[in-house]
Amino acid sequence: MSQTPRVAIVTGAARGIGAATAQRLAAEGHAVAVLDLNEADARATADAITEAGGRAIPVGADVSDTGQVEAAVAATAERLGPPTILVNNAGVIRDNLLFKMTDQDWDLVMDVHLRGAFLMTRSVQAHMTEQGWGRVVNLSSSSAQGNRGQANYSAAKAGLQGFTKTLAIELGKFGVTANAVAPGFIATDMTRATAERVGMGFEDFKAAAAANIPVRRVGAPADIAATIAFLTSEEAGFVSGQVIYVAGGPLD
Ligand code: NAP
Repeated sequence: MSQTPRVAIVTGAARGIGAATAQRLAAEGHAVAVLDLNEADARATADAITEAGGRAIPVGADVSDTGQVEAAVAATAERLGPPTILVNNAGVIRDNLLFKMTDQDWDLVMDVHLRGAFLMTRSVQAHMTEQGWGRVVNLSSSSAQGNRGQANYSAAKAGLQGFTKTLAIELGKFGVTANAVAPGFIATDMTRATAERVGMGFEDFKAAAAANIPVRRVGAPADIAATIAFLTSEEAGFVSGQVIYVAGGPLD
């Protein structure tokens, strides 16, 4: 089914899962605002999309800052048109065992994942409800089920699942769906940093993870981008309030 061209915002899209998602949505025919903390970092993804024949702009904003979020959404609407696809992907990790976790570790992770998704969605929903169509995808994680050293991150990722279900209930009557994608192990800078933290080389770390994954490989950003492409498509209009684990095996 060919897609009606829409305007999408992907946060944290300078690299990793966000960059792959921005490129995939552009390949589906959508214009994409590539949002990241620094516009200069976002520009590489936007340029790659433009060079491949797509339409994209880089946007610099901290998703946890109300003023910057409002300005980024307004700039997107002005330059590309009203955004009706939103992928809340921006993320950070500040892993530590509970007794060593600082207030700052807790607050930053809550601010980027939870407050960021809240601020972005509150701003973009105005355009979605006005257009009578919208797709929100929030990045949760298999860590939502609990993970050693990630009290902050697992709480934020579980929180995003509740946020997603509430969005689905509130916004459904406006033609807006909301779903969460919960990746397992995906090879990105984020998992590379985790390997460093536990003192392992990245290749060994990936091999060890793959041995415990039923499909016997770790995930790639494109695996998540493909799932998001489906959830933001026209034909996914009856799928809402779901958490889709994309982890190479079953998770509840
Ligand atoms: P990544 O490679 O670390 O990329 C995250 C991006 O988010 C970076 O470009 C980062 O910018 C940006 N960002 C951080 N704070 C931001 C803020 N306040 N405002 C705007 N942008 C911000 O991460 P990833 O592995 O692709 O992960 C993407 C998402 O998937 C995250 O939500 C993550 O929690 C989730 N996830 C990942 C995995 C995995 O295995 N990789 C598994 C489950 C869930 P800077 O570079 O400037 O910091």
